[in-house]
Amino acid sequence: MLAKADSSAPRKEPTDLVFTDPLTGLGNHRRFVDKVERLQAERADDPAPFAVGIIDLDGFKPINDLFGRAAGDNILVQVALRLRAAMDEHSIATRIGADEFGFLLPMTFSVAAASAQARTLIEILSAPYDVGERTVRLSASVGCALFYGDESADELINKAETALYQAKRSGRGAVVVYTQEMEDAAKRMTRMEQALRRAVSAGEVEPHFQPIIDLRTRRPIGFEALARWTDRDLGRVPPSVFIAIAEERGIIGPLSQLLLRKATIAAGRWPAHLFLSFNLSPSQLVDQNTGQQILSILDQTGFDPRRLEIEITETGVMSDPTSAAKIVADLRQVGIRVSLDDFGTGQSSLGRLRDFHFDKLKIDRAFVSSILDDRPSEHIIRAILAMCEGLGMDVVAEGIEEEAQAQRLLAFGCGGGQGYLFGKPLDADATLGYLRDSLRGPAQARDA
Ligand code: C2E
Ligand code: MG
Ligand code: MG
Repeated sequence: MLAKADSSAPRKEPTDLVFTDPLTGLGNHRRFVDKVERLQAERADDPAPFAVGIIDLDGFKPINDLFGRAAGDNILVQVALRLRAAMDEHSIATRIGADEFGFLLPMTFSVAAASAQARTLIEILSAPYDVGERTVRLSASVGCALFYGDESADELINKAETALYQAKRSGRGAVVVYTQEMEDAAKRMTRMEQALRRAVSAGEVEPHFQPIIDLRTRRPIGFEALARWTDRDLGRVPPSVFIAIAEERGIIGPLSQLLLRKATIAAGRWPAHLFLSFNLSPSQLVDQNTGQQILSILDQTGFDPRRLEIEITETGVMSDPTSAAKIVADLRQVGIRVSLDDFGTGQSSLGRLRDFHFDKLKIDRAFVSSILDDRPSEHIIRAILAMCEGLGMDVVAEGIEEEAQAQRLLAFGCGGGQGYLFGKPLDADATLGYLRDSLRGPAQARDA
């Protein structure tokens, strides 16, 4: 039911200021809710559903930061014009937040039709925008919900918000239409978020430590701290789940500080030649406070910065390379070493290895696990090793589970290894026990 962007004449908008967004002239949030309520009243005795949707511009904030506010406003006005032009005579578009637009499609009766129309809107918004001399491109995500006759306007709009949240999570330019399963998943996430917040303030998330060994001597050279959380009700939650929630819901800062404090206290009891390797999340490399927070924890726990390594992934470097470079430079200044984690899975841009100085590279488990039976993996690992040698970087192969893998990696010249073959992550006390054993007796492979 959408009109073609270029064929529809501008429509007269209500002049009532209370209902109008002053920047774009579209209706505002109040108008959106009011329109939805009116339509609900109209459809009270009519079984025909209708659709509402919320559009969120992807990556609008950086545009504002980069080109200035005036340019940002200019783009919002252009977005509004395009949306208005795309509406047919029944439908309306409104601006309901900084870079959020709500639309109401009274003649859209199905999930399929709502998604198709949302996709058209995204396409219309993806065409380039002229801002002064420059051209800017944007994408947008959309969440939709259908009204079937049994909820308030706020509830319906909340459903569209839930769908939008899911769309945003799945990347740029996505359309999601609300379902009940989505609501249940959102509730589970919120429950987990609350439990995690409580656990972080109560200091209940613990670092465990997995040995990183010298493949030649088979002795530990350091440990990677890996977060572990067991909740009373939820049970053991894997870090892949709770770290993601912490990142998404803004708890990663306090969580990471708690873990670093505990980890450096534990590592302070190890022999001084062993390093501690600590993971940073991508969002922490966008936050300029991160460096200072790390340094102040080292100061409090008295841990030598030269014994600390920070593991970051390419995703972390990519989202804001300038910010990440500054944080990394600050850390290296005091002797902290920086590793590139999970190499080979993400973008693995070689340009990045030239621009960014890493002390160490960790080859992702995916390559190590297939090194014995997959020629391409073998060649890739050999190429990575040759490259690291040329660049003066240390290498650790992750996820070594079999003796034959360790042998092969050693034969290729890989210096460091980590994996269940040498030990699983253990808590602080068990790690001390592991160290006592491994430093006493002849070095040998062991399963913890
Ligand atoms: P990662 O940094 O790549 O950590 C290595 C993961 O591989 C760990 O999973 C480790 O337990 C697992 N692993 C080690 N050796 C083997 C092996 O031989 N076989 C197999 N199958 N797996 C092995 P884990 O502990 O579940 O952590 C998953 C991810 O969660 C980590 O990947 C890291 O990205 C993140 N993470 C864990 N702790 C923290 C933390 O304190 N802060 C942040 N920001 N992220 C963390
Ligand atoms: Mg890691
Ligand atoms: Mg890794």
